[in-house]
Amino acid sequence: MSSPFAAFARTADAVAATRSRLRKRDLLAAYLRELETPDVPRAATFFAGRPLPGAADRLGLGWVQQSAALGAASGASEEAMHEAYLRHSDFGDVAAELLATRLHIGDERTVADDVATLAGVEAVFRRIAEASSGEGRVGLLRCLFERVGPAEARYIGRIAARELRIGLREGILEEAIAAAFGHDPAAVGRALTLIGEPGEVALLAADDRLGEAALRLGRPLRCMLATPVADADDVVRRVGEEAWIEDKYDGIRAQLHVGPDLAPCLFSRDLKDVTVSFPEVASAFATLPGQMVLDGELVPFREGAMLDFASLQTRLGRVRPDPELLERVPVALVAFDLLHLDGSDLLDLPLRERRAALEALRLPERTGERVLYSHLATARGADQIDVAFDDARQRRNEGLMVKDPGSAYQPGRRGLGWLKLKRALATLDCVVVGVEWGHGKRRGVLSDYTFAVRAGEDDDRLLTIGKAYTGLTDAEIAEMTARFTSITLRDFGRYRTVVPEVVVEIAFDRIHRSGRHRSGFALRFPRIMRIRTDKTPAEIDTLASAESLYVAQASGRILLATGAGGTTERIAATGVAEEG
Ligand code: AMP
Repeated sequence: MSSPFAAFARTADAVAATRSRLRKRDLLAAYLRELETPDVPRAATFFAGRPLPGAADRLGLGWVQQSAALGAASGASEEAMHEAYLRHSDFGDVAAELLATRLHIGDERTVADDVATLAGVEAVFRRIAEASSGEGRVGLLRCLFERVGPAEARYIGRIAARELRIGLREGILEEAIAAAFGHDPAAVGRALTLIGEPGEVALLAADDRLGEAALRLGRPLRCMLATPVADADDVVRRVGEEAWIEDKYDGIRAQLHVGPDLAPCLFSRDLKDVTVSFPEVASAFATLPGQMVLDGELVPFREGAMLDFASLQTRLGRVRPDPELLERVPVALVAFDLLHLDGSDLLDLPLRERRAALEALRLPERTGERVLYSHLATARGADQIDVAFDDARQRRNEGLMVKDPGSAYQPGRRGLGWLKLKRALATLDCVVVGVEWGHGKRRGVLSDYTFAVRAGEDDDRLLTIGKAYTGLTDAEIAEMTARFTSITLRDFGRYRTVVPEVVVEIAFDRIHRSGRHRSGFALRFPRIMRIRTDKTPAEIDTLASAESLYVAQASGRILLATGAGGTTERIAATGVAEEG
């Protein structure tokens, strides 16, 4: 019999109640140790704040579906749900509060004779992930809410929203898995690197099989991430005088797996299989021998030249592109890393060696330029980095990636092995918290967005930092208007507050202190570069990122947006002469 979900909720409450890292680890370890083996991966996945392993962990449940399910299960009106959300800013807490009220009035549907277990909850999550319609997903979540009490509903709501909010900083779950089953935390960390699934790693640990952890062709690894830096001086301070630099391409991240018994497949940054959307890249490998895993960026590329990001967007909108579109906007993979080659995992090798092995494969000529290599150079000192930055911009790329040639590949980590130097001025990833009806040509659409950063890595309060018109196309604005209408929390006429679930990347010229927004900062000439559908609100920038940009700028280390490389057409097209 699978363990009751209520025990998971009690453990999560206890973990949330202590600030001590050790105590959190011990509570988790004690809980995991008591579970029957089949429950271990389920609990570890849930504690990682994910409903399911792999790409299935995105259940397709935004506020619209969540609130519909909760409304049906609790009988609460839409207005009551909005009020509760405004009080808690957390869907799990809203679910707990509203279901508690329902219990209080003694609605007998709530009497949980069929106690939810870890296996039961996982099974429902899986059916939600596989459901073909929004209504199907709502119905399933509703059933789940009807089977549990408020304490469990809180965590079901939070797991569905992919954020557990119990202060499990990076590494605590890993340490708990190690402690629970008597392993070295480094061995657990290594397995997690190769497998990327806390559930599967916990199971290997419980079974004493951590040594078997390996990269598997056809299963995507989490991508290595980069730390943003403000300018060339910042780069030199972090990596020393000699920097290894690559162009930063403006496309979408992709991992290509080629195996012996596996059709070549491509995965996106959020681990989804996107092979059918980019058939020309996969098919370039159909006749190439060998096994490999490549990391790179998909870019629109025709007749030896890269096209702009806007043309790639026409491809992103189509799951299965038709022949006409394939002909008009073909894509290529700009490869910058090699993670596996013919039976050997290369992650631990220094980048220098991985790159040499990548180049030795001569992929551009063997794939008819469906695979290219990233532009690589070495720069000494800040001046050379500035020149390289301008050159990259001349090639119409976004900026530079600075990499330590001695670094290993660290999946899912934002380490110092990779730094990113973007545009003239770094951008901030923010979440939209409010929207406003536009003027003139934009009348009748919600075109002005107010956005916020997170208070901290472990503090999920949202602090507003600016407001900007969108730089999106009319079709995108129409789509966003419908989306924001459906996630409106409060309608004040011109302005409405919305559930914070849409992530936007914001560029700006300067950042200054101001009492105008809750963050204590305001942005000059903010503009929306892009909707980041690949990022969740948990991944946006924090107040600390805003502070460090402010400090870098105050010390004169930041270049203004009109400086190096000039602004791209995309920026020019989206720029608005308004202070946010
Ligand atoms: P960002 O999406 O702004 O956090 O920047 C990091 C992203 O830049 C990576 O996830 C890649 O998709 C992209 N990128 C473009 N060119 C490179 C490169 N040469 N090396 C690594 N990442 C790159």
